[in-house]
Amino acid sequence: MDQPLQPETLAVRSGTVRSQFNEHSEAMYLTSSFVFASAAEAAARFSGAEAGPIYARFTNPGVSMFEERLAALEGAERCVAFASGMAAILATVMGLMKAGEHVVASRSIFGSTVQLFSNILGRFGVETTFVSPTDPEEWRAAIKPNTRLFFLESPSNPLTEVSDIRALADIAHAAGAWLAVDNCFCTPILQRPLELGADIVIHSATKYLDGQGRVLGGAVLGKKDLMEGVYTFLRTAGPTLSAFNAWVLHKGLETLGLRMRAHSENALELATWLEAHPKVARVFYPGLPSHPQHELAMRQQKTGGGIVAFEVAGGKDAAWKVIDATRIMSITANLGDTRTTITHPSSTTHSRMTPEQRAGAGIGDGLIRVAVGLEAVVDLRNDLARGLDAL
Ligand SMILES: *Cc1c(COP(=O)(O)O)cnc(C)c1O
Repeated sequence: MDQPLQPETLAVRSGTVRSQFNEHSEAMYLTSSFVFASAAEAAARFSGAEAGPIYARFTNPGVSMFEERLAALEGAERCVAFASGMAAILATVMGLMKAGEHVVASRSIFGSTVQLFSNILGRFGVETTFVSPTDPEEWRAAIKPNTRLFFLESPSNPLTEVSDIRALADIAHAAGAWLAVDNCFCTPILQRPLELGADIVIHSATKYLDGQGRVLGGAVLGKKDLMEGVYTFLRTAGPTLSAFNAWVLHKGLETLGLRMRAHSENALELATWLEAHPKVARVFYPGLPSHPQHELAMRQQKTGGGIVAFEVAGGKDAAWKVIDATRIMSITANLGDTRTTITHPSSTTHSRMTPEQRAGAGIGDGLIRVAVGLEAVVDLRNDLARGLDAL
């Protein structure tokens, strides 16, 4: 019997379909539509009786290759790709829910996701209750008769709080709801939420899946029947991943395993060093034994991941001083790049939250997030030392 292939092999080999020319690197299909051999073939394609591309809003061979490869890595029956991570999150709700239904979401999710749930979807009659990512009892208590979806990120941004995916999947299922996990920070190399009981995995492919800060993309993965609704929304509304971006992402996945291991090694070393630094008040990194959910993280993730946050005393002024004194790190909000990025969440990525929401989520003004890249770790350490010396 064939052995199941390892993730590193799937990342390089799965999903590829070659054209008549048998190119080694995948071709890119820059076309809006596809021609049929006959009127009968056109009708068969449109009715679904015959598989094959129709129109690039919802069928492109290059996009399908990326979807197949990511599905193989997450262990999902089906993947539907999107133009961005936010489009993927919107499509999940639009494809699976209706007005009058209710979401329970972690309080510690991406800033735009908070806005999407609380402001935009709220206007269309989908109500959301925000709860602690780390206390399953709050999720259970928030359930209403109309609850259809649990939504979380683990580890969270920027505090790297870790949610118990298996426990929350059980609570969701007992209430007749689905659990969706935004797996952006871990990628399937470090964490496979479907194996832990989640029903839906969401990606901002813009981050680690690309890995070099080049393109936007997103994806939703899960069982075939669930993904049918998500695909129907894509086909009808058109938040489609472009052929070029799909090609970049498909190639990006080839190095995902190597990169995630290197990001994680660098991050653990920096987190350990920061924790011993006299000017650092607190470090947030799931790979450190001092992290409140360290044991859970090490059970459900392969490593602590590539994101480290730390707090300095002195609030915003102190945090800005540290950031401005670094010379190698890029001051930008993106993450999951080969280049290390340094961010002040409370004045950038999380500035649209109210001060009360930020306080509730524990995002202080002295907090700095580092998305650790692939530079030599000694250079990164020296760069942060330069930053902290400014205090
Ligand atoms: C960036 C990000 C998103 C949004 O993705 P885009 O591709 O920017 O739309 C969603 N979730 C998390 C955790 C992110 O980091």
